[in-house]
Amino acid sequence: MRIVMLGTGHATVTKCYNTCYAYEEDGRSFLVDAGGGNGILSQLEKAGLELADMEGMFITHAHTDHVLGAVWIIRMVAASMHRGQRSRPFTVYANEKVMRVLGTIADMCLPAPYLKQFGEPLRFVTLQHGDEFDVLSMRWTAFDIESEKEPQMGYRAVLANGTVIGCTGDEPAHAVNDPYLTGVDWLLTEAFCLSEDEETFHPHAKNHSTVKEAAASAQRLGCKRVLLYHTEDATLPTRRQAYTAEARTAYDGEIFVPDDLETIEV
Ligand SMILES: [Zn+2]
Repeated sequence: MRIVMLGTGHATVTKCYNTCYAYEEDGRSFLVDAGGGNGILSQLEKAGLELADMEGMFITHAHTDHVLGAVWIIRMVAASMHRGQRSRPFTVYANEKVMRVLGTIADMCLPAPYLKQFGEPLRFVTLQHGDEFDVLSMRWTAFDIESEKEPQMGYRAVLANGTVIGCTGDEPAHAVNDPYLTGVDWLLTEAFCLSEDEETFHPHAKNHSTVKEAAASAQRLGCKRVLLYHTEDATLPTRRQAYTAEARTAYDGEIFVPDDLETIEV
């Protein structure tokens, strides 16, 4: 199993794509978030991932930088179903708010023949806190991160080899989610900027955290590895080195600060 990072930036970045990624295993894939638009299609193309091989997607929440790319994925998948090129299901997993947003935009913006694919074989599974499902060779548990800004889900995924991955969505790990995140092999979490750049990027005003705070959460939770994303894009050339150095001051485990299109074995 590998994670293909399709984007690593926050909502309004222009020098990289919004944070989203795909799990890829034996030629099949599963998307987590889709960024803010049609750019998801070029990122998939650059990564060599075909929509025809995609089993579905999980959308954490309905903010523009996570959900609008999903409209494009749905459009493309529904089109291939309409043309008779795909009969295999494609499943969208998300909370009720995301489903409402996707349904409303699709109703108003997509051609009627595409909408006919909705339900079957284009499936929508509305998730409640604690719901479980299987995708690729993983067992997923979705949990409500209890965000104060937007209904949002994180997840805990257990791989066939026992590896456990925890994702906090695009907010810091909240203590209420500790049962899902404590001791995971991989913690995927946002880190908006370096501590020294707080006054420039104002992470806390947006319910985001500094690198040091994200690293401290990973340390508190006893995670073996931390992967930091959803960052500013003003420091991309030095991001990996600078973020890793700051995270090291608060965290003992392995630190990953990937670039767009980087692949990580998990
Ligand atoms: Zn975001």
